[in-house]
Amino acid sequence: MPLILRVDVDKPYGRANLREKVLSKIREDYWLPAISSLRYLEHVRKFLVFLADMDIKAHIYFRRCTLPPRDWINSEMLNGHLIGYHAEDTRTLETFKKELELVQSYLFPVKVSSFNKHGSGKQKLGRHHYPDYEPHKYREWGKITGVPFYFGNNELVKRSATLSAENGYYPGMFWLDRRRSDNEQLTPQEVVEEAKRNNVVVIIHPANFFADKQVEGNMRRLLSAASDNNVPWTIINDPGLEAFNDALQRPARPEPDYSQIS
Ligand SMILES: [Zn+2]
Repeated sequence: MPLILRVDVDKPYGRANLREKVLSKIREDYWLPAISSLRYLEHVRKFLVFLADMDIKAHIYFRRCTLPPRDWINSEMLNGHLIGYHAEDTRTLETFKKELELVQSYLFPVKVSSFNKHGSGKQKLGRHHYPDYEPHKYREWGKITGVPFYFGNNELVKRSATLSAENGYYPGMFWLDRRRSDNEQLTPQEVVEEAKRNNVVVIIHPANFFADKQVEGNMRRLLSAASDNNVPWTIINDPGLEAFNDALQRPARPEPDYSQIS
């Protein structure tokens, strides 16, 4: 059984130093365009290079304030990864659909392969963010919109009862960038042992990979343990997505409405 890597892109400008934290906060909570000279998503670009070096494909989720630069879309940079929508405005099905359409039209012709939820229920994180975490609703919305909700935000720890998928839905995952007490925290070796029996989802935030040496260390130890034990990494491929891509005749891209992307 393989490991599945989920990458949530939360920070527009990273969080490795004060400058990055301030720029990210302004864009998340107020307004600031995506400015490449200010190193917008530079940490994500470096993380994608790292994944390419490791030959790992992932599910990569972008918020409306962390959407990839236009020249990444349909480029080598994101090639082979599945691109998802990191949902924020989940107050109602209507607000969700509006945000999904905004993100989908920006990413076109790349199809949004699935969505997940930003935040786990307590804090308001950004001006468009609705904090409540309601996975049962999202699973329904996935069926209604045809954009599936594969991954819940629960944490896999030593006492976790459910590690495997329930009808194609993974309620929990191993968080590389959270630290639990020693009697709860799974070690990279334990995660890999579990992945020999069940598909195991692993989450990382690129900003934390570069801001926190321990997160980077956890990631590297997990990669080594997986490699030593011949446990592969995979992505969940949706046949509908392949049909979409096959049917696509590479039409001219509509000019995105940048005013709505923030
Ligand atoms: Zn998030």
